[in-house]
Amino acid sequence: MALLITDECIACAACLPECPNEAIFENLEDCEAEGLEVTGEEEGEDTETQMSYVDGDNIYVIAYDRCTECVGHFDEPQCAAVCPVSDCCISDPTYPETSAVLLDKVKKLNPDKDIDESLVWSGVRN
Ligand code: SF4
Ligand code: SF4
Repeated sequence: MALLITDECIACAACLPECPNEAIFENLEDCEAEGLEVTGEEEGEDTETQMSYVDGDNIYVIAYDRCTECVGHFDEPQCAAVCPVSDCCISDPTYPETSAVLLDKVKKLNPDKDIDESLVWSGVRN
C-alpha cells in the first residue's frame, strides 16, 4: 500500500512536490488536518520504525491511504528517488499491496489523470 518515511528524515522538503498522489506532508499534524493517517497511529508501536514515525513531529510523513508506491505514474517511488538520505523512504511493512491493488487505488485517487498500467515499481510486494 505504501512507503513510509523513517526518522532518518532531515526535513529537506525535496520529496513533497514530487509525489503524484499528494501523499506527503510536512509533519503529522498537517496530515491529520486533512483527515489522513500515518502508519503507527492506530497499529501501535510494533516496530522501531513505526515508533520513530509516530514520535516524529519534525519529519515528513506519508499518508498510507494516498501512497501507491508511485504505480501508474512512475516506475519507481519518486520520494525515494529524490531523497538525499539512504533508506529514509522505505516500504511500509504494515501495508503490503499487489500491483493490481495499487493500480486500482491510483485510478480511484486520480480519476482525471492518465494512468499508465505499465509503470510498476519492481519493489512492489506482489
Ligand atoms: S511512493 Fe510515490 S505515491 Fe508514495 S509517497 Fe512516495 S512519491 Fe508519493
Ligand atoms: S526527501 Fe527525504 S529527507 Fe527530505 S523531507 Fe523527504 S523524506 Fe525527508
